[in-house]
Amino acid sequence: MISLQSIEKSYHLSNQTVKVLNNINLALYPGELSYLLGESGCGKSTLLNILGGIDKADNGEYIFDGKNVTNFKEKDWAYFRRNKIGFVFQTFNLIPHLTALENIEMSMILDGFSKTDRRARALELLELVGLKDRASHLPNQLSGGQKQRVAIARSLANNPDIILADEPTGALDSENSEQIMKILKEVSQQGKIVLVVTHSQELLHFADKLIKMKDGTINEVKQITVKNDSPIQKEKMNSNKPKKLNWGTTVKLSLRNLKNKKWRNTLTAIGASIGILGIVLIGALGNGINEKIKNSLDLKTANSSIGVYKKGTELLSPKVAEEIKKVKDVKAVYTYNPFSISIESKNEKKETVSADTLVPPKYKKIYGNSYITNGRYPTKNHELVLPERTAQKLFGNNLKKAIGKKIKIVSQLMAMKGIYQTVQTEATVTGTVANSAIPITDSAGFSYPLAMEVTNENPETQNKALQYTVIPSSIDKVDSIINKLKTKGYIAETEEDSNKEISNYVTMASVAIGLLSAISLVVSSIMIGIVLYVSVLERTREIGTLKALGAFKSDIRRIFVTEGFMIGALGGIFGVIGSMILGKLANFIIKEGFNKPTLQLFQFEAYQLIIIIIFSGLLGVLASFIPAFRASKLNPVEALKYE
Ligand code: ADP
Repeated sequence: MISLQSIEKSYHLSNQTVKVLNNINLALYPGELSYLLGESGCGKSTLLNILGGIDKADNGEYIFDGKNVTNFKEKDWAYFRRNKIGFVFQTFNLIPHLTALENIEMSMILDGFSKTDRRARALELLELVGLKDRASHLPNQLSGGQKQRVAIARSLANNPDIILADEPTGALDSENSEQIMKILKEVSQQGKIVLVVTHSQELLHFADKLIKMKDGTINEVKQITVKNDSPIQKEKMNSNKPKKLNWGTTVKLSLRNLKNKKWRNTLTAIGASIGILGIVLIGALGNGINEKIKNSLDLKTANSSIGVYKKGTELLSPKVAEEIKKVKDVKAVYTYNPFSISIESKNEKKETVSADTLVPPKYKKIYGNSYITNGRYPTKNHELVLPERTAQKLFGNNLKKAIGKKIKIVSQLMAMKGIYQTVQTEATVTGTVANSAIPITDSAGFSYPLAMEVTNENPETQNKALQYTVIPSSIDKVDSIINKLKTKGYIAETEEDSNKEISNYVTMASVAIGLLSAISLVVSSIMIGIVLYVSVLERTREIGTLKALGAFKSDIRRIFVTEGFMIGALGGIFGVIGSMILGKLANFIIKEGFNKPTLQLFQFEAYQLIIIIIFSGLLGVLASFIPAFRASKLNPVEALKYE
């Protein structure tokens, strides 16, 4: 049996206290169907909610089957509701996106029943209420009476001791009401306590006991049939410890919820994908550029020469070269001057390109073995190599045709500050070199004697150098030479260093775009948060129902956090797909439009994509925290009343 002793309950409004229950003493017995009668507002629902453990009394004791449960903690109450109580509501409160069968399964899901067990039991219960053929119907495909029968089946799922029904026939016609009461009567006859709140005087013939309330007190208890005082008898359904909603089920429930509002959630995910798209594209571009740099350099050899110049000094004099030569472990020092050249071929075609000073052939290995793509390295005066692109423009697509051709060149030393006179000369093409990533950075190569001639021809630049190329006696001396030169006030770096610099610029640009993407990620997280918040509001009654069925706070939180993760991860997937389409399109355009068959500027790495999808999901989790906590904290009594 259960008993309430001296129960009191008040509501405190701003300036007054309303006493809703006053000195309630009540005993309820298994096998009995009791009616709780009284005018609207007399406190019936409040009493019922206290019995059901979704509301708490201010004073008094609640004894359940000999055990004082008055001071249960929140989690105990949830578990108590799950296993001891079955609620039946006037408005049914079936979860709208679950079928009749799944609604019945809900409290068994919360309690961790296996799928086969709960399915079998739910079908059994549907049969009991005469709705076996409606198992896969959604609540809105059922009549009011049918909904209430499903609700009764649900209340019986975990084989509770008490069924608490708050005006279960209030929304039904008399025929359906009769049917519902019949089922509840049968349930009570199976040894359960059934308490039905009603203000209707009809259907009283089902009652074993009438409890009449007025203004918060019980003023009459009328025993109609003989009292049965046996202790509650029940086979224990699931004697395990309180179980949390398992992840598989949580994911399934969340997916169901997401599907239910698929357009809203898809749009949110598309919004969330924009920031992700930016980040993935930056990452892919970074991959592409890094690989390009790596491939274009034979790192070992690139490291073996050092570029040396002085800050603030435009042209360096031969004295500087002498000083550098004296540094320990320096093997050779060569002038390095870059030029801008315009080329005229015999057939009067003109091209402009930049040209570097190459070191004498003895040290050509510093450019790597694949530097020359056709022909040979220029060694003598009036010899040069051309980038493939320039050679093709001048002499046609067959690169071999360029070799041996004589051209006129007008060169100008390229410097930051000064503008130097041009020098005219003639030269022979000895070979071609690979194009660079973009035409503007293509570079021809002057043989060392040619570069010297062009430099010295102009009195302003005679014997001067913009930079010196230093060859160390061995590779492992590079660092010590650089350090020494630095202490002498020079700027000294290897080819790799200057490539690092390019990398740094790329990184800086990526950081800038990254920041913009980050802002859009923050915006999309807020958006996900709002969508979930709206969803919590819309599903307030559903959350109340889940709590009445015995869901823990953490179960409710988990559902919303999982939904947040899923929306976020979906946004991540959209972002990844979108960026792959854009990146591949850009690669295709570069390949076809710029005739660069080998350049893959955007490169995607599977592991990066997976990380970014997970990251996006985690942002969704972060965004879901506030709505999820709000949902889990909802007071079940208030939530169930929510309109
Ligand atoms: P019944 O079920 O008999 O119609 P209730 O138990 O719902 O009555 O309500 C009893 C009284 O408590 C009513 O006067 C109602 O206005 C008041 N009441 C119920 N809930 C609240 C609340 N959250 N705050 C203040 N008063 C409330």
